[in-house]
This record gives sequence, structure tokens and C-alpha cells, in this order.
Amino acid sequence: MSKRIPATLIAGDGIGPEIVEATLVALDALAAPFDWDAQAAGLAGIQAAGDPLPQATLASIRKTRLALKGPLETPSGGGYRSSNVRLREEFQLYANLRPARTIVPGGRFDKIDLVVVRENLEGLYIGHEHYVQIDDDPHAVAMATGINTRAGCRHIIEYAFEHAIATGRKKVTIVHKANIMKALTGIFKETAEQMYEEKYKGRIAMDSVIVDACAMKLVLNPWQFDVLVTTNLFGDILSDLVAGLVGGLGMAPGANIGRDAAIFEAVHGSAPDIAGQGKANPTALMLAAALMLDHVQRKDLGDRLRNAIDATLNVDMVRTGDLGGSASTGAFAKALVSRIKNG
Ligand code: NAD
Repeated sequence: MSKRIPATLIAGDGIGPEIVEATLVALDALAAPFDWDAQAAGLAGIQAAGDPLPQATLASIRKTRLALKGPLETPSGGGYRSSNVRLREEFQLYANLRPARTIVPGGRFDKIDLVVVRENLEGLYIGHEHYVQIDDDPHAVAMATGINTRAGCRHIIEYAFEHAIATGRKKVTIVHKANIMKALTGIFKETAEQMYEEKYKGRIAMDSVIVDACAMKLVLNPWQFDVLVTTNLFGDILSDLVAGLVGGLGMAPGANIGRDAAIFEAVHGSAPDIAGQGKANPTALMLAAALMLDHVQRKDLGDRLRNAIDATLNVDMVRTGDLGGSASTGAFAKALVSRIKNG
């Protein structure tokens, strides 16, 4: 019997429980080695324990150092701080790896195979924000502070280059806005250039591009890119853009990686507009589970899961509504299981 691996499971909010259930069905069919400890977070955490990030959930991840997570709802404007951001901070998950690969051919863009590496702990997401009252308007002025450190830049740039070299990639593109935010993102560009000279020159190509031009180039000719590495906010935006190149958010997985913990999730959110209707595409979370299998040195199972997803979508033609099909979340999972079992 293969070694069992304890892991935390967070079903999440909105479509979370539906796509997590579908993913567990697939992992069971693969006989994946995880022993799950189910915990709550987000709205479900408030309902279960009065806290969007309950102590029991944190204690579980502290123990397992590994989690599969459904999306968590965060109120816009006011309300509680994102549990996703808090989880990344708590476990110092500094690298957010977001691969985007065409699985369903014939879309607007074909044969896409890109990776966005997003810095996950710094920049404008650190939450140093406040309003200034003028006269009787309490929200007359809004202020935010961004912080990028040399050490944080070095960590993420090193991660991007090491990942790119280990996976046989050809080029790393540094995405920045150093022409305007000369210090905040200048430090990122400068650190990348220094590290390239010190450690990576001759081993892999590097170039750099300003984020707005990068967005345009990704839409005009995405094939010119390979691995993109960037700061937190730009990475958040560009990874959704890149998901759009491969069929939408239903196809985009993400891995949050730290030195001694990792949390796997879909790039998308809780999709409240379709929650509870059995319409959600579970592929993104299943692909995240495949990354989790790779991470625990079971790439054999990760590859079987990816191959079965490919065949279910392209040979059996079982697809959810976001991909133009009519299958429910459950019907997709069922078709996938017969692919896993029967090859
Ligand atoms: P969203 O990603 O939830 O949805 C955007 C659009 O994509 C919606 O039309 C939705 O129906 C569709 N969509 C998303 N996932 C899909 C899937 N698997 N199958 C089919 N269609 C899918 O973004 P939003 O509506 O802006 O955010 C909703 C909530 O999710 C917010 O509270 C936000 O804070 C949260 N959020 C959480 C995470 C996370 O947990 N990592 C990430 C992003 C957003």
C-alpha cells in the first residue's frame, strides 16, 4: 500500500462544496493517498465557528502542512479581510503558481501553455489601507501602501527561475510597472536583473515587459510568452486573463507554495451566481488536485488525472456549460471516473 498523506480539506463557499465533492470522487477513483481532515473557512467558517478562519482550521494546516481548498467568499468594500490572503500570510505561501494550458482545442486561442508565477505576500495586498475624513465625508480620501522587499523579490524570482528550469521552460518574463511605480515595482525588476546576471544567465532566457503592454501582448500573441513572474496585484489580474485564453476560470488551477506548507485551489472564486445549481466546472480544482499530487511526489497519479480530464473533455465530449456543453458537475465527475477506471 502506498504511504498515506494527511491533508486538510476546505470545501469553501458557493460552488466550493460541489466542485470539492466532484474532485474527491476523482481522487478516490485514483486511490490517491490523502487522509483528509475536513475543516471550514470563509462564510462556512463564520457559520461553523463564528470566524472566517477558525483556529481549528489553522491548527489542522499547521499539522498537515498541505491543503486542498474550495473558493472562499470575501465581502467587497467593508467586512472581514480575505481568508485566502490571511492563509497565505499565516503559512508564508510566497509563491502562487498558476499554469494555463489549452485542454479543449479549437477555442479563440489554441495550444496555449503558459505559467504565471505571482508573488503572494507583498505589494498592494498587505492591507495597509485607510480612509481620511474631510468635513462630513468619512470616505473623502482613500489611501493604500504597497510594500515590496528585496528578500521577498528574491524569493519569488528564484522560485520562478528554478521552476522554469526544472520544467524545461525556455524563457522567464519579468512583468512590472517600474516606469511609474519606480520604487515599488522598480525593486522587483532590479532584483530580477541582478539575479539573472548572478545565477541564471546562460541557463534560460529572460526579458521584461511593462504590465499594461503585457496584457495587450497576451491577447494579441500569447505564444511569445512562457513563464511570467510578477508582483501580487499584477499576478492576480494577469492570471485571470491567462485563464481566459484557455477556456475561462473553470480551467485554471493554482498552487500556493511556501517553504514548509502548500495550499492548492482553483484560480476562480465562489461563483455565487451559479452556486447550488450543479453547473460549476470542477476541472480547475481537479487540475489543482493534480498539482497537489505532483507536489507529494505522485506525479504518476497527477498525470493519470490530467489524462483522464483530457479524454473526458475531448474524446467523451462531456463538458459543463462554461465550455459550451450541458453536463452537470456530477455528470462530469461520473464520466471522469469511468475514464480513470477504464483508461
Ligand atoms: P468568480 O471567480 O467566483 O466568478 C467569476 C465568473 O466566472 C462568474 O460568472 C462565475 O459563474 C464564473 N465561474 C467561476 N468559476 C467557475 C466554474 N468553476 N465553472 C463555471 N463558471 C465559473 O469571481 P467573483 O464573482 O468576482 O467572486 C466571487 C467571490 O469569490 C468573491 O467573494 C471573491 O472574493 C471570492 N474569490 C475567492 C477566491 C479564492 O478563494 N481563491 C478567488 C477569487 C475570488
